Amino acid sequence: MVAEKPSLAASLAKILSNGSMTTRKGSNGACSVHEYRGKFQGEPAFFKFTSVCGHVMTLDFTGKYNNWDKVDPVELFSAPTLKKEASPNLHMPDFLRREAKGIDVLVLWLDCDKEGENICFEVIDAVRSHLKRICDQTVYRARFSAITETDVKRAMNSLAHPNENEAMSVDARQELDLRIGCAFTRYQTKFFQGKYGNLDSTLVSYGPCQSPTLGFCVERHDKIQSFKPESYWVINVQVAHPDGKTIPVEWDRSRVFDKEVVQMFLGMIKAADSARVTDVVKKEKTKPRPQALNTVEMLRIASSSLGMSPHHTMQVAERLYTQGYISYPRTETTHYPENFDLMGTLRQQTNNSSWGPFVKELLKQGNQKPRKGVDAGDHPPITPMKGASESELGHEAWKLYEYITQHFIATVSPDCRYMQTTVYFDIGKEKFLCTGKILTDPGYTSVMTWQAISDDEDIPPFTKGQTCNIADVRLGERQTGPPDYLTESELITLMEKHGIGTDASIPVHINNICERNYVTIVSGRKLKPTTLGIVLVHGYQKIDADLVLPTMRSAMEQQLNLIAIGKANYHAVLEHALEIFLLKFKYFVNNISGMDELFEVSFSPLASTGKPMSRCGKCRRYMKLIQAKPSRLHCSNCDETYSLPQNGGIKLYQELKCPLDDYELVLWTTGTKGKSYPLCPYCYNNPPFKDMRKGMGCNECTHPTCQHAFSQNGVAECLECSQGILVLDQSSAPKWRMACNKCNLVINLLEGAYKVTLKDDDCEECGASIIHVDYGKNKSPLPDGATDCTGCVFCDATFKPLVEMHHAMAPKMRRSAGRGGGAGRGRGRGRGRSRAKNKPKDKMAQLAAYFV
Ligand SMILES: [Zn+2]
Ligand SMILES: [Zn+2]
Ligand SMILES: [Zn+2]
Ligand SMILES: [Zn+2]
Ligand SMILES: [Zn+2]
Repeated sequence: MVAEKPSLAASLAKILSNGSMTTRKGSNGACSVHEYRGKFQGEPAFFKFTSVCGHVMTLDFTGKYNNWDKVDPVELFSAPTLKKEASPNLHMPDFLRREAKGIDVLVLWLDCDKEGENICFEVIDAVRSHLKRICDQTVYRARFSAITETDVKRAMNSLAHPNENEAMSVDARQELDLRIGCAFTRYQTKFFQGKYGNLDSTLVSYGPCQSPTLGFCVERHDKIQSFKPESYWVINVQVAHPDGKTIPVEWDRSRVFDKEVVQMFLGMIKAADSARVTDVVKKEKTKPRPQALNTVEMLRIASSSLGMSPHHTMQVAERLYTQGYISYPRTETTHYPENFDLMGTLRQQTNNSSWGPFVKELLKQGNQKPRKGVDAGDHPPITPMKGASESELGHEAWKLYEYITQHFIATVSPDCRYMQTTVYFDIGKEKFLCTGKILTDPGYTSVMTWQAISDDEDIPPFTKGQTCNIADVRLGERQTGPPDYLTESELITLMEKHGIGTDASIPVHINNICERNYVTIVSGRKLKPTTLGIVLVHGYQKIDADLVLPTMRSAMEQQLNLIAIGKANYHAVLEHALEIFLLKFKYFVNNISGMDELFEVSFSPLASTGKPMSRCGKCRRYMKLIQAKPSRLHCSNCDETYSLPQNGGIKLYQELKCPLDDYELVLWTTGTKGKSYPLCPYCYNNPPFKDMRKGMGCNECTHPTCQHAFSQNGVAECLECSQGILVLDQSSAPKWRMACNKCNLVINLLEGAYKVTLKDDDCEECGASIIHVDYGKNKSPLPDGATDCTGCVFCDATFKPLVEMHHAMAPKMRRSAGRGGGAGRGRGRGRGRSRAKNKPKDKMAQLAAYFV
C-alpha cells in the first residue's frame, strides 16, 4: 500500500493496523515501511504500507532541447519529451520496485484528487515488472477524504480502481504547460535580457495561467492610473429625537455632482423648520448562515482576515489534514453529502472553552440542516475532524483551524435574525431616511462573532406623523476615489469566476507572479504590479490580447476536465491546443517589436547600465557589471554579454589576467564566511578545455600551468565529498582558507600569515600538497619564535592547531527551485530533500515548475 507522503503512510498504517505495526526505514532514507498482519478480502495477509514523496516522475524535454543556446524555442512545440525522476536523489522508482518484490496486491492510498490519481499511475509504472500482472484483482484504489478511523476503514472496505482518465488529464496539462511555457519563456527571456540592463528578473516567464493572473492585477492598475476624480456634494442632516439624541439621516438623493443644484437643495432644507416622520416600516430580516467551506473561500478568508498568503495557507491546511485535524483541504464542494455525520462532527467540539457551550446548545436543539451548496463530487467541504487546542497546534495552525471550526459550526447553526426599522422623513420637499437594527436571534453569529450585529445599530422609536427638530444641516464636499489595487482575496474571486486555476492550483499561480517580481504585496495583502509586470501585460495586449485574457486558459481547463471524465480524447485535446499556441507563438515572435517599444521606455539598454568592472580581452575596454538579476558582464564595444555565478558579490581580482584570452579575472564571493573563487569571464562562458563544463571558475579550471587554476592551488582531495579538490583561496589573506571546488566544505587555516605558498612536493603520509607559510615577527603563532614553516597542514603537529573546518553557507537558492518538477502541482508536497543543501536540478526541470 502506498500513500502520498511519509507522514500520511504512518497515520494510515497506524489506523489500519490498530496500532500494531512495526516500522523500518526504506532504502532511500526518506520513506519508511510500516508492516503488520491482518486480513485482506477475508484471507490472512501481510501488509506493507509505505509512501512516495509527491510526484515520482516529471516531464521534461530530452537532452539537447534543454540547451537554451542551441535550440530555437519554436521547436519545443514538437520536441520529444520524456518522463524522468522528479527527485533523482530519492531513487523513488528503485525504492518502490524493491518493496514491491513478491507482493500480490497493490493498494493505492494517494490523495484523492487528479494529481493523486496521476501519481497512482506513476507508482503502477514503477512496480509493473514486479507484479505478476496488472489487473482489477491486483491493483486497487482507496478513496478517502480524511485521515480518521471511520473514513480510512471505510475506504479499506470499499476499494475501487484508479481512474486513468483523470490521470491522463494531468499528463495533458503537464505537457501543455511545459511546451507553451518553455517556448514563450525562453524566447522572451533571451530577447529582453540580451537587451536591457536593469530588468530585475532572472526569468521573463510566460505561463498560460500565470500570465492571465498577472493580467487581472495590471488591469486594475490601469484603472487606477486612468482614474479622474470628480467632486460631488452631500447634505448631512441630523434630526433631534424628543428624548435628546441626535440621529444622522440619509438623503434620498444621496449625492449631487452639480454645485449650484446642491446649493439650491441646501437652501430649501435650511428653510424648513422641522422634519416630519412620513412612515415607519418594521421588517424581520435574516442574515443567512454561511455555506459549507471550500478551498477558495478558505484562501480568501485566510488572506483577508488572517493575513496569510494562499500558498502558505495551503501548506498549513495540508499539515492539519495530514495530522487528522481537518478533512482534505482541496475541494470545490460546498455541500455536505446526505450521509455525512454532522452531529458526530459537532460533538467533538463540545469541550472547547469558547464555542463549547454554544455547540452543546445546538446539539440539544437537534439537527439544523446546512444550506444547499454545490456538490463537485470530489470531497466533502473542509471540516474539522477532531477537537484541538492552541497549545497542541501552535499559533498559526490554530488560527486556521479555529476559523475552519467556527465556519463549520456556523453552517449547522440557525440564521441570524433581526428586526430592521426604517424611518422616512420629509424635510421641506426633500426625503430622508434612517434605519436601525435590533437583534432577535444571533444564530450563527454567536460563533462567527465578526459578523454579529452590534447594539449601536439600533435607533430610538419614532411614530408616523411625528415632527422633530432639525439639529444640524451641513454641506459636505467630497471626491470620488480611485479603486484600490486588487487584494489577494479579490484576485482569487476573479480567477474562480473566470475558471482559471481550478483544482486549487490558485495559490501556485499567485505565488509565482510574486516570486517572478511581477507584483509586490503591499499592506492589506494588495497586489501592486511592478514595472516589469505592467510592461509585459501591456506588451501582450498590444500583440495578442488572448495571451493575457483568461478565456484561452479557461477553455483549456474545460477540455482537460473532459479528458478527466472520459468525454474527450487525450491526443485530440493536446494536438488542438498546441496547434493554436504554435500559431500564436509565431505571430508573437514576428511582432515582438511591439512589446519591445514598451520595454525601451521603461528599461535602459545594457550599454548604459552597470558600473565598469574588468577589462574585455578582445578590445581592452572596461566591461560593465550589470547588477540587476541575473547579474552579468557586458562589453558595449564588442556587444557581448557574459553570464556570472549568481547569489554572491563580484569584484575585480587584483587586475590579474587569464593567460588564455587576456580577460581580466573577477572574484566571486559570498562574504567573509562563505566561499570565493576567481573566474575568467570568457572561460566561464566558453570552457577552454574539453573536460570543463560551462560555468566553472579557476578553482575548477584544468589549465596545467595557469597560476589561478586548481592545478597550482589545489592542496588535497576534499575530506567530505568524493569528487572535490580543496583549493587554496589566494584572495583570502590574512584569513586564509581553502574551499572544496564541488561541495561546501571550507577550511580556515594559518590565520594572520602574510604568505602561503604551495610547494611542488606532496606529503608522504596523506598525499596533500606541502605548504610553506610566512608569518610576521610579532604575529607568529609558531612555537619557539619561528616565523616560517614548511609541512603538511593535515599531518604536521605544528600546523594542526592552526586549521579549522567548517561549512560555507550554501548560496540561497530561489525558493521555487526547491519545489521540483511537479509542474503546477499546486501543493507543497514533501520532496524529501532539503532546500539549500542539494544541488539545483538542471535548468529545465526547475523551469517546468514555473510555467503554469
Ligand atoms: Zn570588448
Ligand atoms: Zn579565460
Ligand atoms: Zn584559468
Ligand atoms: Zn567537497
Ligand atoms: Zn599529510
